[in-house]
Amino acid sequence: MSSFSIRSSTIRLGIFISTLVIAIIIFFQLAWLRKVYRYEEKEFDHSIVKVIRGLYEDLDVTAYSTTPLSELIEKPRAHLYLARISLPVNTDTLSSYLQYELEDFDIFTRCQFALYQAAGKQYVFSFNPGSATPKNAGSFPVFNRPYDYIALYFPNRRQYILSQMNFWIITSAVLLFILLLFGGSLFYFYRQKFLQEAQRDLIHNFAHEFKTPVSVISLAADVLKDESILAKPAKLATYAGIVQYQANYLNQQVEKLLEFAYAESRKLQLQKEAVDMHQLIRTAVDNLAPGITKKNASLIFKLDAPQHIIQADKDYLLIVITNLLDNAVKYAREPQIIISTAVTHTKFLLLVKDNGIGIERSEFKKIFKKFYRVQQGETYVAKGFGLGLPFIKKIMAAHGGKIKVDSWPGTGSVFQIELPLN
Ligand code: ADP
Repeated sequence: MSSFSIRSSTIRLGIFISTLVIAIIIFFQLAWLRKVYRYEEKEFDHSIVKVIRGLYEDLDVTAYSTTPLSELIEKPRAHLYLARISLPVNTDTLSSYLQYELEDFDIFTRCQFALYQAAGKQYVFSFNPGSATPKNAGSFPVFNRPYDYIALYFPNRRQYILSQMNFWIITSAVLLFILLLFGGSLFYFYRQKFLQEAQRDLIHNFAHEFKTPVSVISLAADVLKDESILAKPAKLATYAGIVQYQANYLNQQVEKLLEFAYAESRKLQLQKEAVDMHQLIRTAVDNLAPGITKKNASLIFKLDAPQHIIQADKDYLLIVITNLLDNAVKYAREPQIIISTAVTHTKFLLLVKDNGIGIERSEFKKIFKKFYRVQQGETYVAKGFGLGLPFIKKIMAAHGGKIKVDSWPGTGSVFQIELPLN
């Protein structure tokens, strides 16, 4: 049992580290894909600049032969290039030349182009290959410039660049899929392991829980079998009492397990009725009387709630209160328990405060998980299955209520339940 918390923290650490590693790999993979995209974009730009340079050299369309290319080519949009010209150009030659050059540079994406004349501030020719009306480039954007230019427009530039990256995108997707599969199986494996361990611990606890009462009963039976006891009625009564106490205890434990198993398999069906919470608290205390006496626990009642009759399931609420009180007795050396009630305008509150070993803040959430038990010192000595609080939580949720805990290790804990008044 004591290795349980180490095991579960190892499990958590394992899941945490693998999640972190997977997240880092995914992050780098995405950053890398982005880099490849930027690289492909640059390659595309270079190829277009080369095409335009060929245009200048072979078609003789500019008189600015000494001007650097960077001043002649402008890129007002990601997919649009303006190449400054100063000499008349034959549009048919331009069309076939551009198509030839683009293919030569392996740019197999649609290119629309247009000739802009500064004098008329408009396009005097446009060409849209592949369209029904190739001589009409449609909504080709006009950029007013004081010089003539050829506009090259690549409407599918992004798709084209992405298609160039197909190999990397597919390998990344495969890697991502493998990582997710790996993460999923890791989680599944840890879950299976956790359940397997929980099951083993339950059996261990079960045996532990039942061994002592059974041997006590067996010892008492031995004494009772001895005929000489008939002459000592006081002793007879004591031993009969021991048998009864242990049998009751065993019965309670079995009921606890059965209730939990039953509640686990289905949604809680509440049988609501008017329940007097103060009365129910007394019933719970009576049920626990043997344990309270045995540990010499002192109970202080501050049942101040002016309204203490609520609509709820009596049997389930009795389990809630009994479990809270049982824990308060169980986890303290010399239990001093304060049971108080109060109401707010919508809720009924019950607080069980003890002076027990307390619970670390980091355990607050975990103690409401099935089979979880804080593994340290005395907790290990106190018997249990780690099923009480999860069951209480379930019962409270079914009632539209809540359970809260606050605790100070070494000083004590307070458990508070809240139930709707209506
Ligand atoms: P069990 O008591 O059978 O182990 P519970 O579900 O009732 O199971 O409680 C879960 C765990 O929460 C306990 O094992 C114990 O570590 C801690 N706990 C519950 N109540 C108290 C309390 N009053 N004081 C200290 N620890 C507590």
